[in-house]
Amino acid sequence: MNFNLTERIHARYLVACDGAHSWTRDKLNILADTISEDSTWGVLDIIPITDFRMLYLPVQATETDRNLADIRRSCSINSQPHGSIMTVPRENRLVRFYIHLRELEETAMQHPGCSPQAMVEIAKAIMKPYDLTYKHCDWWSTYPVRQRMILQELYANYDIKDQPTPGQTLQTSRVVRSNLNSMHTDGLYIYIWFSVFLAGDAAHTHSPKGGQGMNVSIQDTYNLIWKLAAVVTNGADAMILATYDSERRPVAKTLMDLDSRLVQAYEMEEKDTSSGIYEIRNRYAGFMAGVDVTYSDSILVTGKETVDPNLARNIKLGARLPSFLVVFHCDGAPVQLAQRLVSDGALGGGAARLLNLLDLPEPFHPYDDFLGWDYWKVFADDRDQAYTGYGIDKQDPGCLVLCRPDQHVAWVGSMEDVAGLDNYFSIFVGSSR
Ligand SMILES: Cc1cc2nc3c(=O)[nH]c(=O)nc-3n(C[C@H](O)[C@H](O)[C@H](O)COP(=O)(O)OP(=O)(O)OC[C@H]3O[C@@H](n4cnc5c(N)ncnc54)[C@H](O)[C@@H]3O)c2cc1C
Repeated sequence: MNFNLTERIHARYLVACDGAHSWTRDKLNILADTISEDSTWGVLDIIPITDFRMLYLPVQATETDRNLADIRRSCSINSQPHGSIMTVPRENRLVRFYIHLRELEETAMQHPGCSPQAMVEIAKAIMKPYDLTYKHCDWWSTYPVRQRMILQELYANYDIKDQPTPGQTLQTSRVVRSNLNSMHTDGLYIYIWFSVFLAGDAAHTHSPKGGQGMNVSIQDTYNLIWKLAAVVTNGADAMILATYDSERRPVAKTLMDLDSRLVQAYEMEEKDTSSGIYEIRNRYAGFMAGVDVTYSDSILVTGKETVDPNLARNIKLGARLPSFLVVFHCDGAPVQLAQRLVSDGALGGGAARLLNLLDLPEPFHPYDDFLGWDYWKVFADDRDQAYTGYGIDKQDPGCLVLCRPDQHVAWVGSMEDVAGLDNYFSIFVGSSR
């Protein structure tokens, strides 16, 4: 490899998804704000040999108490003065332990002085009177915990006149993705001229206590990539790229809030017997499962004011389309609707009321020279789950639901509202630049 070689790559857009130590972020001189102090944690996957079950609970322990003390369940255990750990049961008899290293903190990052054995000793002290040993350690590591967010002032340093138009070579720092405390309700469209997007840990770092870093990182790019593809290959207007920032920044903000609350709850639990962690997890359960993320009104989520709420009472504009068990029209085989909403970059519309398959237009049974007819695009609700679940009245003429490639609901209209559908697309399709 010739390390002296300089290669110049001309790119219309750049996605910086190079992790918490993002090289791209550094090269673009994007400053990050440190929200919390460093602390060092150990993580290890072992097959535990332990009697951590309900053995030592007092007779008056409730059923809930009994269920909590079990190595096969996810537990948060704190014991003063030793600290706290979190356990997560895994596959193949493994259990993951997250351990605040405290005394080992100084040396932990250099590894000598810190080993799986040393970590298990801490966990064992915390779990007393239960015992904990292991013979098999699958993997272990230590990691610093620090919340960081990109500085809001970043945007203030840029003047819209200085921004390059799409297609220009990247020369200066232009950033769309950020992870800020406040929403940019003003000047939203400024960001369409920027051509660098930060995604995942490059944009937001936090502790792994909520187990959300990878989830949210994947959702970031899931939100972004179909938009980029629509602009680059399908001629959609670049203004849709602004929604990456407006949709994902509030999610990152919620993630930071969740993480701060969890860290705080862990610290509290190190001092008392608060059950805060479980309350927080319950409160954020929908967010953690990804189903509560609702994108606000934008060029890609339209009609909150105009849509008739009675058309689909349980479908929320901007939220993920809930999935229900339906059956294929052609062969009656049951299928979860979400499994059929393939993420191939196409915006999909669904007629919520079914007709004879062959009476429907070609997109409902498309033909391929090699594969023949695709009859598996139309579903029936013979279990009465979908109509009820979506809140669509069976007697009325149904409705049209437009779903984005990331499965978030973009638009809802009546069966005949072709003009509304046309209007949705006309704003950003066809005026390609
Ligand atoms: C101990 C621990 C446990 C965790 N548990 C969970 C969990 O249970 N659930 C969860 O959702 N998340 C969890 N996370 C968080 C999760 O791992 C991260 O949030 C996620 O990996 C971020 O993905 P990313 O693609 O943004 O960054 P990364 O996974 O860090 O990927 C960045 C990639 O970019 C590459 N790269 C970096 N620089 C360059 C360069 N200059 N050129 C080319 N390539 C480069 C790197 O090699 C790497 O492959 C955990 C994290 C830790 C530390």
